[in-house]
Amino acid sequence: MQLFSICSILPLVMKMYADVLVEIRSKHIDKTFTYHIPDSLKDDVCVGKRVLVLFGRQEVEGYVLSLKDKADIETKDLLAILDDEPVLNEEMLELGKFLQEKTLSSLSSCYSTILPKALKASKKSHINKKEQIYIKLTGEIDELLSQVTTASQKDVLLLFKENMEVLKSKANQVSASAVKTLLKKGILVEEAREVYRYNLSYKEKEHAKTLNEEQQNAYEKIVHSLGKNEIFLLHGVTGSGKTEIYLQVIEEVLKIGKEALVLVPEISLTPQLVERFAKRFPDDLAVLHSGLSDGEKYDEWRKILRGEVHICIGARSASFAPFKNLGILIMDEEHSESYKQENQPRYHALDVLKKRSETYHCPLILGSATPTLDSMARAGKKIYTYLPLKKRANEAILPDCILVDMAEEVKARHPIISRELECAIIEKINKKEQIMLLLNRRGHSTTITCSNCGFTYRCPHCEISLTYHKSSKNLRCHYCGYTKYIDDFCPNCHEKSLNYYGLGTEKLEEYLENVFPTARIVRMDRDSTANKGMHEKITTDFQNHKYDILLGTQMISKGLDFPDVTLVGILDADASLQIPDYKSNENTYALLSQASGRAGRGSKKGLVIIQTFQPENYILQCVKNHTYAKFYQYEMNIRKTLKYPPFYYLILLTFKGRDYSAVSTESNKAKDFLEKNKAKETIILGPTTANMFLVNGVYHFEILIKYRFDDKLINTIKELDELVLLNKKVTMDIDFHY
Ligand code: ADP
Ligand code: ZN
Repeated sequence: MQLFSICSILPLVMKMYADVLVEIRSKHIDKTFTYHIPDSLKDDVCVGKRVLVLFGRQEVEGYVLSLKDKADIETKDLLAILDDEPVLNEEMLELGKFLQEKTLSSLSSCYSTILPKALKASKKSHINKKEQIYIKLTGEIDELLSQVTTASQKDVLLLFKENMEVLKSKANQVSASAVKTLLKKGILVEEAREVYRYNLSYKEKEHAKTLNEEQQNAYEKIVHSLGKNEIFLLHGVTGSGKTEIYLQVIEEVLKIGKEALVLVPEISLTPQLVERFAKRFPDDLAVLHSGLSDGEKYDEWRKILRGEVHICIGARSASFAPFKNLGILIMDEEHSESYKQENQPRYHALDVLKKRSETYHCPLILGSATPTLDSMARAGKKIYTYLPLKKRANEAILPDCILVDMAEEVKARHPIISRELECAIIEKINKKEQIMLLLNRRGHSTTITCSNCGFTYRCPHCEISLTYHKSSKNLRCHYCGYTKYIDDFCPNCHEKSLNYYGLGTEKLEEYLENVFPTARIVRMDRDSTANKGMHEKITTDFQNHKYDILLGTQMISKGLDFPDVTLVGILDADASLQIPDYKSNENTYALLSQASGRAGRGSKKGLVIIQTFQPENYILQCVKNHTYAKFYQYEMNIRKTLKYPPFYYLILLTFKGRDYSAVSTESNKAKDFLEKNKAKETIILGPTTANMFLVNGVYHFEILIKYRFDDKLINTIKELDELVLLNKKVTMDIDFHY
């Protein structure tokens, strides 16, 4: 598809007024206001640029959404234009409106989500380009040499014997004062050149592997559909060679002069994966993930905008990568919950990719070892084209999997590491093989209670128990971030009688160090990787056998590929089953299968040990036997009976406020309103207090809407939204579930 530059399609007649969407983060003011364009700005104004305007008495930024000849009311002047080129092109302007409709959030919040942070029109932001200053000669070197008198000036000019241009900082090292004089005399000129802050430095090119039969079949179907808007579900066990297929499809896309966008979950966007793409496509790749600074992200974004690279790999926000000629869209690990943004606008990257694949008439590949029930159901209905990969690509076989009954282990005084897991760890260490242990809970202890008076530390804002972090010697609330320093004495009875219950990754690390004193152990979780580069360092060190055991939260469950890991231990598999969410089975199946998939990826066979108090649990049995199909049947039955997706759509309304009775009253009024306006098969549940009822002093009530066919529902919710806006004490969040 050809996207015209917006400036070029404007009629030649100069427009007098601009409709500006002001960036005030409030649903109350989410509309455009008309401003007069003063003569001085007439030549530069254009749709999609950011401008500065007066709103009330405040100077605010906004986006120009349209231009017109007349204004109905008297208007103020635009104050300034902030961009040389429009930051929102025609597609992005459309995409913003699409997001607004999909999520029912404010249009300005949608545009600000689409743009990289450096460009968000929220404050008077500087576009922080990084520049380097070069200097050049203004004529022939020999002639210029004859014009200079001092030795230092000559030395500076001699730098140009071999170079056309020289970095000013380099020349300054010879003589800064000479450079200054030469510039003044007009013998040298300066030229500022933009430089990118982030550059991948893989020069060697890696070649494609010969695809096996299953891969080849999938590959051909996808390549055949290039130029069509078709959605594929590539369902392949971990290590079945999905990534290899992506790489080869992208190669075809580049051959026809088009671009590729690859989304992966944030935690899977490991240096290992980036390296794999970068080696296959040297100098043609942009990377967008949260490990980069705002400036680095902005640079990567501009490489894409300027057409300097044809491939982008990134996390959720990369779905807005400003390509203009997309040929393929890929969403790896499509089941990942990280594709849904959990604050306004609560969009799902899948919707963005679907929309873009329609816009560009290009295929979209959804890849996963554990597809969502929703995707699988769509594949069943032939809405998606199903491409299964049943074997591991490099002949590796799937690992053996054992479920250990922890009730027995507690009796045998092995409550943390079972006897079986302990034996296996010792055996693997002796064989110089590696081990990964998953415990999806960070911190040291989850509850601290006084054995003398029964006191328990709780968050004063959220009413939940605080987690103890030993390394920083403080207690933390994992919901609101509240922290508190503690000493050994109970703050209530002042006795030295505090007990630390519950197991987090820090305590596990301590425990392992005691039980396996000679083992080299490293921990990876949000705390140990808080500093830039730590994630990469731990991964590389583990790969290079500096450690025997890598323990961590779900961070270690995805994307990592270590051929010498032959044992994966999963502690407390029950934790994720107990999360009160209709998707907890699905998420558990995905998490445990992913984690198991880390074992035996090389030539040696892997072993997975799962510790649980419910070894008979059907979901765990399915994980053990690697039977996705059985899991799917079982879970679909539950969903059907309980009226959950993919049989029903869900919308969750959350009412929030500091005034308990206002929130309660407003949510009850909302319920009545919805009941009055709903369709026949629509079910309105609640209001109930939310799972996290009190967070940071704010009360939460929820209404859950289940529906199948309800044409009017979206309009009803929009009306409700307007009504709730009238009550200043309560806000309503609208969340479309997937
Ligand atoms: P997935 O993305 O499904 O986890 P990968 O593409 O990462 O799978 O492949 C797993 C491993 O198998 C990688 O080390 C990869 O290099 C290798 N591999 C993939 N396809 C082939 C192939 N056709 N022949 C040989 N090795 C392959
Ligand atoms: Zn809290």
